[in-house]
Amino acid sequence: MSTCGYLYTPSYAPLDIQGAACLQRRGANPVFQDWGSRVYLEQLLQQITAGSVQELLLLHLSDLGDSSDEIHECLLKIQQAGIRISLVSESGIQTPTDPEAWLPLLAEIPHQLQSRRLCCRQAKNRLAGKPPPGPAPFGYRREGERYLPDRKQAGVVKDFFQHFLLYGSLRQAVRFIAEKHHKYISVATGRNWLINPVYRGDLAYADGTTLRDTHPALLSRTEAAQIDRWLKRNRGIPRRSASAPRALAGLVQCRVCGGSLRIVQTTPRQGKHNSPSYLYLRCQTCHYSLRYAEVLEAVIQQVCEQLPQRAQQLDTDALTRSRQEIQSQLQANTDLLQHLEQLQQSGLMDEQCLAQRRYQLRAENALLAQKLEQLPPPNLPQIAQTLSIQPFWEDLTETERRAYLREFLRSIEVDASGDVRVIFVFDPYVPCTAKNFLPLM
Ligand SMILES: [Zn+2]
Repeated sequence: MSTCGYLYTPSYAPLDIQGAACLQRRGANPVFQDWGSRVYLEQLLQQITAGSVQELLLLHLSDLGDSSDEIHECLLKIQQAGIRISLVSESGIQTPTDPEAWLPLLAEIPHQLQSRRLCCRQAKNRLAGKPPPGPAPFGYRREGERYLPDRKQAGVVKDFFQHFLLYGSLRQAVRFIAEKHHKYISVATGRNWLINPVYRGDLAYADGTTLRDTHPALLSRTEAAQIDRWLKRNRGIPRRSASAPRALAGLVQCRVCGGSLRIVQTTPRQGKHNSPSYLYLRCQTCHYSLRYAEVLEAVIQQVCEQLPQRAQQLDTDALTRSRQEIQSQLQANTDLLQHLEQLQQSGLMDEQCLAQRRYQLRAENALLAQKLEQLPPPNLPQIAQTLSIQPFWEDLTETERRAYLREFLRSIEVDASGDVRVIFVFDPYVPCTAKNFLPLM
């Protein structure tokens, strides 16, 4: 006579290894586990009829069938054989004995079945690359099984992105669409728009998978990659500096104390309307100030002198190799996907297996394509050449200068004597990775 465990996992979900382990910990041996069929449930019932089972441990009563009727019938069989049934959960083990203890458990069954059906429907949608249930996100409408841009709303979303790409300030972009379109969103919603795969033409599912190019995008891949770099860059910069209009905001650090220098502006002296106001960078800890214009000039000069050389030092062969490796993997997956199409037409392979494999390949391709976008652009030396021309910088606004500096500089170190040193994002002593490299294109 033994204590058995039983659990059921629908075919669309991964095998519930944790659930099985949980039953084992509570003393079940063996644990019967069905995955999409009821083969082991049949075996279990045979053993019960043969009288070799004393107790049955379950995670949910609904595991015993696909409908309420099936489950009740199965329960009746087990109880009539005099088997004790216990329900195992995180918090412990429950063994209902009288009808009153059974009632709430039985009442749970329809809910459990309903949520299983819902998960099943969502899994099927996922495998077919269809959008998740619920209304379409702002900017889109649902037409049949896919999202299509809603002309009016998409305009608002696009304006929001363009404003952010131009000025790099989330708060300003939020204010901009409020003023222009009377569309009021919170900063948190704005941040969500910036990173939401849906606006890039992709669908992200609850299981963490993203499928690419499932519907028209409101943001190009290049723009999306730029936004990602900006957000990553801004993460290390204090919030207010991230969107400050000054090119050096948040980038300058004191070499002695390591603190960030603040930008301060002197007010013209009272009564002297003609006296000019100056911008300074000030270290609050070491109590010194540097002229903003002088530091900026030194920074631009160093970028012009050093950027082409640093760009040359990048291991371009290694970058080319990784690019080729990713591209050939992408191609191999695409070939496989085509092969699957042929298999489907020939009817040689099970429809469910095909859908599962197709889904995996598409998810893998999404990750590979993302990797490819994060690599430095192949024309980096040319970009560096352009940025090494001093007059080019003079024609830029502070916002534009800030954009370029944030792309290429990790920080700027200064000291009280006014010595300036720029640290590039791909300086040799910090290995160049997709994470800390912020290419321009
Ligand atoms: Zn300092």
